[in-house]
Amino acid sequence: MASIHLAICDLTCSYGSNIALDGVTFQIRRGDFVGLIGPNGSGKSTLLRTISRVLRPQLGEILLDGQDLSLFKQVDLARRMAVVSQENPVDFDFTVEEIVMMGRYPHLSRFEREKPGDLEKVRQALEMTGTLSLARRPVTELSGGERQRVMIARALAQDPEVLLLDEPTSHLDIGHQIEILDMVKRLNKDRGLTVIAALHDLNLAALYFDRLILVKDGKVFALGTPVEVITKDNIRAAYGSEVLITRHILSGRPQVVLLSGEGLGSGPGSAAGPAPPAGWRVSRVRVHVIGGGGMGAPLLEGLVNMGFQVTTGVLNIGDSDWEMARTLGIDVVEAPPFSYIGEKEHLQNLEAVKGSDVIVLANIPFGNGNLKNLEAAIQAADSGKLVIVINDRGAGRRDYTGGRGTRKLEQLLEKPVIVARDDREALEILVQRAPELLAAGHRSPAAGH
Ligand code: ADP
Ligand code: MG
Repeated sequence: MASIHLAICDLTCSYGSNIALDGVTFQIRRGDFVGLIGPNGSGKSTLLRTISRVLRPQLGEILLDGQDLSLFKQVDLARRMAVVSQENPVDFDFTVEEIVMMGRYPHLSRFEREKPGDLEKVRQALEMTGTLSLARRPVTELSGGERQRVMIARALAQDPEVLLLDEPTSHLDIGHQIEILDMVKRLNKDRGLTVIAALHDLNLAALYFDRLILVKDGKVFALGTPVEVITKDNIRAAYGSEVLITRHILSGRPQVVLLSGEGLGSGPGSAAGPAPPAGWRVSRVRVHVIGGGGMGAPLLEGLVNMGFQVTTGVLNIGDSDWEMARTLGIDVVEAPPFSYIGEKEHLQNLEAVKGSDVIVLANIPFGNGNLKNLEAAIQAADSGKLVIVINDRGAGRRDYTGGRGTRKLEQLLEKPVIVARDDREALEILVQRAPELLAAGHRSPAAGH
């Protein structure tokens, strides 16, 4: 267990009569990587200014390694803590190199000149922030994003134990945002740098930070892992926005999708999904989609975005549903291109059916090659699985089997299946039924797939 690096104890801070921080308390361990989030004016910058001693709190105290921060000599503090604030107070014609060298001043004694070691630290900081090529340029001639990277370089040259960043990526394009956050994360991992960064981008915050502190009205509103903090209820309470929480496709971290606002129409083929589900429930429901011919693709995307555990099959390699499944990283029962579903694939499909909580039969065209997929849906229903059949107007024009497909579909519809008109309705049913599906599976919350 790492030691407490910073303890923030009952901090209260105001500007005149405006109370900006109101009894803020939390602890940061050595090597923590913490994101501060919260709406505009909630107090993030004030908190960072207080921790960096730009502001004095009216009440409460801050301990750095157990020592009262207010008792540190300025130079001692500067050796341990570096700050990149939102306001870059650089209006003079310094070159980038000179600005970054200022980061070394706390490490030099009064009339000492910089040594080779200091120049090397400056060079490293320039290199890490991608500003080496700007070294000789006057900072006044840089773009906002370049200047932001220079200020981060200066903080790194300071070689601190604690790095405070106030919206370090706000002026950067996505490429540089990721570069900066990757770099800071690496310093955190490799050198144990303790990092506290205010970020207004919730999705970046959820992706990069191990712990998040959500600030609202000068108070800590929520604190914990991204999954604990980035919830639809917390976001609604803090920001007043209706959002859908999904999982990042690679990392599994929560991601926020905005729901309120215009332009959310669900065009044809759109499977954006109904009102947000209780994410944790949905994320444990295993859905097997029987698709093909591109009819399953929007549904697959919708299910994955909503956080369901999804499998699909049998799909011919190269089919557009197959392409979509690959893109989404879904397990697919696959058959060779343009060929009939064989017995082997059919059995694999039945295995996948067995391993899932619910089966969805997409509005697929029926050919002689994929009748086995209808068969699998029938067997699923017979085995007592919940089967949702997407079916707007019967098999009709999507039957290319001279009636065999239609008869099989009718056979399926006689069983206790649920019929949905379209993808959206199917998703709605899945969200509504998630709790009972889980209860039926008798699976503990910890069970994986
Ligand atoms: P955030 O960084 O989360 O947007 P701030 O810490 O900047 O929030 O602001 C918190 C509150 O303090 C707001 O009500 C803001 O208006 C006020 N505030 C911030 N800076 C100043 C200042 N320099 N003078 C007076 N009030 C301020
Ligand atoms: Mg701010």
